[in-house]
Amino acid sequence: TSALLPESLRDDFPILQQTVHGERPLVFLDSAASSQRPRQVIDAVTEVYERDYANVHRGIHVLSERASDAYELARGKVQKFLGAKYDHECIFTGGTTASINAVARSWGDANVAAGDEILLNPMEHHSNLVPWFQLAERTDATIKHIPLTDDGRLDLDRLDEVLSERTKILAVTQVSNTLGTVNPIAELAARAHDAGAVILIDAAQSAPHLAIDVQQLDVDFLALSGHKMCGPSGVGVLYGKQDLLDTMPPFMGGGSMIGNVALDGFTSAGLPAKFEAGTPPIAQAIGLGAAVDYLTEIGLDRIAAHEHALMEYAYARLSEIEGLKILGPAPEHRAGLVSFVLDQPHAHDIAQLVDRHGIAVRAGHHCTQPLHDLLGITASTRASFYLYNTPGEVDTLVDAISQIVSMFKPSGRKRRRKPDEA
Ligand code: PMP
Repeated sequence: TSALLPESLRDDFPILQQTVHGERPLVFLDSAASSQRPRQVIDAVTEVYERDYANVHRGIHVLSERASDAYELARGKVQKFLGAKYDHECIFTGGTTASINAVARSWGDANVAAGDEILLNPMEHHSNLVPWFQLAERTDATIKHIPLTDDGRLDLDRLDEVLSERTKILAVTQVSNTLGTVNPIAELAARAHDAGAVILIDAAQSAPHLAIDVQQLDVDFLALSGHKMCGPSGVGVLYGKQDLLDTMPPFMGGGSMIGNVALDGFTSAGLPAKFEAGTPPIAQAIGLGAAVDYLTEIGLDRIAAHEHALMEYAYARLSEIEGLKILGPAPEHRAGLVSFVLDQPHAHDIAQLVDRHGIAVRAGHHCTQPLHDLLGITASTRASFYLYNTPGEVDTLVDAISQIVSMFKPSGRKRRRKPDEA
């Protein structure tokens, strides 16, 4: 379809220009775990290290000024990317996990008490479950879950069973990293706010792929990771509404987050420094700024449409394979990934066998063990698409899996047809 991005875009990604296992062109279908990055991002990071690198906000020398300017420029890019009102609402962290933990510790410990409820759901990644379990343990709060529909969406008809004035926070992913489900964040935010709760969205799987506007969605907190959106590893963002961040105590203590320090105490700095203790991921944040530029220039809507077309194609072709079951909802409710199970072989074996064809997919529970338990499976295989993937790569995957399936057919290819078989 016309939604597909040009193949020439692949030229931006040096790592994709290789063959593996001999002469197999690399087919990288594991971007949901971590994406690849374009030359533009690699160059931006290299340039900082070669020309501008120094610690930020400290030295009164030219390199420190340059590095600080570039670091703060990156913050401004993230602000625009997310539609945040102020740049100081965007805190650089180590990633989604670090961002969610910061909210659970800082906002959670100050606002959640015994008897309060934390609302989650079974499709969440471990990093949007465990920090809340830990908060519940510290505070004696109660964990509740929004039920899922049979096809792997949040069952909003049953939201009122679990959302009440006791709910303090609703933490929910915008896109499921296993099911591919896209959750209706604006509606969830409105209903959480009506109940007097705040909402945190895990944007690890959405920020790389969909246009986000935190003010339009009216979310209170958002967490994302740079490495899933063409940026460097080791950097992420915590967005929070200014009013909330202002009232929250700092989560980590150390340099840079202070106003004054005496022998017996300290005062906190203002935003965003209050939540950026220690030397931040300087080059990584600058690289993330370059990634934001790259994605914005191509256009998030085009990227989303491209991935959706690839996912629909993969969904249709994989559905034709005998004994293959796709997890999650119909294509119209999904983003660009497909997880599946086969009668045979096991998910890990599939990943290993397609790797011999040069195809990188993920196998396991994808850090969604409760979801896999609910589905009655221990593992699945996941193919995830990004802006650099092509329909030809989907074909390579489907052909490889078809070949594996025929290899594992119990009766084998040589089985004689019975007379009544077509
Ligand atoms: N949430 C979701 C939905 C994810 O897919 C991931 C990464 N797999 C995370 C959170 C955690 O991200 P990170 O490991 O970058 O902190």
